[in-house]
Amino acid sequence: MSDQFFFTGLSEELAVCARCGYCLSVCPTYQGVGWESASPRARIRLADQLHTDGQHGADTLGMLRLYQCTLCSRCTQVCPLGIDLRQVWLAARQEATSYDVAPAELKQMWQAISTQSNVFDLPNEERSEWLLYMDDAPEDIDQREQAEVIYFVGCVSSFSPAAQPITEAFTRVMAAAKLDFAIMGEAERCCGYPLIAAGMTAEAEMLRQHNVAAVRAMDAQMVVFNCPSCALTWQEFYAPDLPGIQFRHAVELLADLIKSGRLTLDEQSLTVTYHDPCDLGRNSQVYDAPRRVLTAIPGLRLVEALENRDRGLCCGGGGDLEMTYPALAAHVAARALNTLTVPGVEAIVTACPQCVRMFQSAAEDEGKPVEVLDVVQIIDRALT
Ligand code: SF4
Ligand code: SF4
Repeated sequence: MSDQFFFTGLSEELAVCARCGYCLSVCPTYQGVGWESASPRARIRLADQLHTDGQHGADTLGMLRLYQCTLCSRCTQVCPLGIDLRQVWLAARQEATSYDVAPAELKQMWQAISTQSNVFDLPNEERSEWLLYMDDAPEDIDQREQAEVIYFVGCVSSFSPAAQPITEAFTRVMAAAKLDFAIMGEAERCCGYPLIAAGMTAEAEMLRQHNVAAVRAMDAQMVVFNCPSCALTWQEFYAPDLPGIQFRHAVELLADLIKSGRLTLDEQSLTVTYHDPCDLGRNSQVYDAPRRVLTAIPGLRLVEALENRDRGLCCGGGGDLEMTYPALAAHVAARALNTLTVPGVEAIVTACPQCVRMFQSAAEDEGKPVEVLDVVQIIDRALT
C-alpha cells in the first residue's frame, strides 16, 4: 500500500473517544437516518472493531454503516477531544477495503476508474467534449504542450451535464483575464478523490503518479481547480511531488484577478446566499475568498446563511454517499437546501460542481424555484 495515502494513528484516535455524543447533534447523515447505529459514535465503534479484530471485526453486522458518511468534518469540528474524525473515517475505510468490506457500488466505481480513468465510466477521450458546446472556447486549450496555468477540470466538471456550464463559465472567465492557461484534455485522469474516500488508496496512487507526470511535462507554475475535492486531493497528496507549483481553487484565483484589476465586473442586481462546500470550507479553510469575489460585484447583495463558514451544512454529495446511499444523500441535500432558501434570496451560490448538482436536484424534488449557481457563473455573467 502506498505511504503517500496511508492514514496512521487510528488506534490512538479510537482509544480517545469518550462516547460523549456531541458529534451526533451535527452529523447530517445521522440526522437523516435517526438511529444510534447510524451515528458517528457508532461508526467509531465499528472502526474500533475493524481495527482490533481484523477479519472477525470486518464481519460485524452493520459494518457498511462506515460508508454512511459524507466526510464533511462537522463531527471533527465539535469533538471536544479534538479527534480528527475525517482521518478516522478514511483510515477505517482503508482497512475495510483490505477485508473486502466495500459496498458493491464502490467496487463498480473502482472498475470504471481502472478502465476509463474517470468516475463516469465514459471513454476518457470525451473528457474535453464540453468544449464543443462553447461558441467562444479559447483555441487549442486542450492541445497545448506548455502553459503557465493548468486548469485541472476533474471528472464531475468534465462529464456531468449539470456541471459543464460551470466549466464553460470558468474557462470564459480565465480567457477574459488573459491567463496563459491550458487543460490536460484526455491526458487528465481522475484525481483519485472518490477512491481515497472509498479507502482504495493503492489504486488512487496510480492516478496520482500519472497526473503528477502530466503536470511536470507541461512546465506549469499553477494548477487551478473549480472542484474543491480535486483541489483538496492535490493539496494533500500531490503537492509534495510538485514543489514550486501553486494550487488554487477557482475562488482564490478569481479573488486575486479581481484585486489586481484583471477582471472588471458589471452590475448584477441579485440577492444571493453562499453555501460553503465542505471540502473548500471546513476541509481547506477557504472562507473569505468566495465572499470577497461575490461582494466585488456591483449591485449583488450577499445574505449569510443561518449556518455558514465552519458551521456550513453538507450538501450530501461527498464521501461517495451519492453512489452508495443515494436516498440518504438526497435527504441531506434537501435539508441543507431548506435552510438556505430564505425569503428574499434569489439564488444559492456555491463553489463546487457537486454541491450545485445536489442542490439543483433537491430544488427540483422539493419544488423550490430557486436558482443554484457556482461563483464562477456569476462572475461570467458580470464580465464587462
Ligand atoms: S464528539 Fe468526539 S469524543 Fe464525543 S462521541 Fe463523538 S468522536 Fe467520541
Ligand atoms: S464526517 Fe460528517 S457525515 Fe461523517 S460522521 Fe462526521 S458529521 Fe457525520
